Amino acid sequence: MALTGLDIFKLLPKTNCGECGTPTCLAFAMKLAQGQAELTLCPYVSDEAKAQLASAAAPPMRAVTVGVGDSAFTVGEETVLFRHDKTFVNPAAFGASIDSGASDGEIDAAIAACKAADFERVQQRLRCGFLAVRSTGDAARFAEVASKVAAADVPVVLVTEDPAHAEAALGAIASSKPLLHAATESNADAMIELAKKHSVPLAIRAKGLEALSALTEKAADAGLTDLVIDSAPTTAGEALRDHVFARRAALNQKFAPLGYPVITFPAEISGGDQMLETVYATADLLKYGSIIVLSSAEAWQMLPLLVARQNIYTDPQRPMQAEAKIYEIGTPGPDAPFVVTTNFSLTYFIVSSEIETAKVPMYLGIVESEGLSVLTAWAAGKFVPERIAKFVNDSGIAEKVSHRDVIIPGAVAQISGELKEELDGWNVVVGPYEAADLGAFVKKRAS
Ligand code: SF4
Repeated sequence: MALTGLDIFKLLPKTNCGECGTPTCLAFAMKLAQGQAELTLCPYVSDEAKAQLASAAAPPMRAVTVGVGDSAFTVGEETVLFRHDKTFVNPAAFGASIDSGASDGEIDAAIAACKAADFERVQQRLRCGFLAVRSTGDAARFAEVASKVAAADVPVVLVTEDPAHAEAALGAIASSKPLLHAATESNADAMIELAKKHSVPLAIRAKGLEALSALTEKAADAGLTDLVIDSAPTTAGEALRDHVFARRAALNQKFAPLGYPVITFPAEISGGDQMLETVYATADLLKYGSIIVLSSAEAWQMLPLLVARQNIYTDPQRPMQAEAKIYEIGTPGPDAPFVVTTNFSLTYFIVSSEIETAKVPMYLGIVESEGLSVLTAWAAGKFVPERIAKFVNDSGIAEKVSHRDVIIPGAVAQISGELKEELDGWNVVVGPYEAADLGAFVKKRAS
């Protein structure tokens, strides 16, 4: 069990020197207990106390990485129950399952579907994160299919409760760091040994949180740290209850045996209804699934879930931002109009899609403005003549266009005079107030 604030206080020097940035040792102890401070901030804590305090300083939920290289994903390490309390850290991973007993053609199709479920939205990549290979044939076939998936650079979840099948697959693909699912009450010793031997993360599956935490303690005592938990729910209600209890126990009570990411299989409780499965997967995403195994990687199912994930796992304290740079929309030539606006993602997408719809190639200059929309950024001093002028001068746009007209949003018409003074040699054109009118505006200017 993790230490409380008072437990920690007893181990601190109690000199209230303030060098940790907190006025008293007691206040520092409370911060440490809540995971809001690092122990290293106190230069005077003894080595003996450090060892005892390590558990309090550790995150309440373990981070677990599956896969290697660019395709690997990390889940867990969450510190809050609700996104608005701070932010969620590592996005849940969505993947699809395949049976090792399927034909080669079906296996190839499943790999291709996972690869194809790769989208870009708000300049972020959303993709199928893994394939879960279920052992439904013999051990050799399980290893063969797992190898095929790993060779395609797709992270693998090995789903089997048979240690012999697990050994065969791990012998083939352990270096690609698959997640082994699962150790249960009947096979725990063998599965724990296999996970240790091959240095792979291990999912623990048991019915109910009591049995689950007993097994995670057993695995932790054996030296395993990268664990994932599965309470084997049989209804959506059970899944919700178990996931919420586990997360609360880990974060609020610092109950280490449940401080691990959760893997879910919504298809197991949806009776073959893929729409219902998608609804359950959404519930898993919200409360608190970290690795969510779907029955397929079809885009209609995967994309909405990935978009929901994107919205949940963005930092509520930081607006989503587009990269500040010049975007070439269409194939603009030297005569193409040059428009500037802010780097609020929604602003970028509205303006760029209106330009695409208007079918008038343009250069769109996105100015760093801390993710604020045009009027808010102007009012906050983030979309002002000095910043815009610096962006235009540094962006290299002068080498791309033969003219010297920069179109600014109509909402900030009031800065046009000052911007002209800042932008030597440029003509400042006040564009329309609404992005929807931009196409007509530039066509009219060109005629
Ligand atoms: S630096 Fe250490 S001794 Fe000084 S106030 Fe902070 S916790 Fe106490």
